[in-house]
Amino acid sequence: MGGLRSCAADGQWSVASGREGCAPAQPMVSVQWSVGSVNIFIDNITVDDSGFDSTAISYIVAALNAQFDDDVVFTAELSETDEYSTIYIGITSAFDAYGDFLGLAETIDSGNQIHDDNAFVFLNSTVSVELVTSVIAHETEHLVNGLEHDVDGLEK
Ligand SMILES: [Zn+2]
Repeated sequence: MGGLRSCAADGQWSVASGREGCAPAQPMVSVQWSVGSVNIFIDNITVDDSGFDSTAISYIVAALNAQFDDDVVFTAELSETDEYSTIYIGITSAFDAYGDFLGLAETIDSGNQIHDDNAFVFLNSTVSVELVTSVIAHETEHLVNGLEHDVDGLEK
């Protein structure tokens, strides 16, 4: 999978993605951090405080945007208008029954046909920002480029 290009680059977007027209050109990934009292609660899942401060979060988001160049847009914000995939950062016990892994993606989404799929990265600030960045990047590959490597997207 070569990844999606902007409309300006090749204009071939609407059929595979199901979108009308060209905009937005790139898959968007919102990276959400459980920080302090701003905890993540979704579908009965509680994510512990990730321990990352705004400086670390900005650094990691910038590193992701640099790594994916123009192919994916990362943000730490939530947008009310755009469709985006969401990657939640922080440790939760909700998936313990499935095994021990650093991240978990909801989909193996070749061509980013699902624009609002989710992933988790089960790490906090006790590990390096490089490791967190690389696991987020890995889950992003599942959500927008259909990276496949094992059963059900589970991984260690
Ligand atoms: Zn994986």
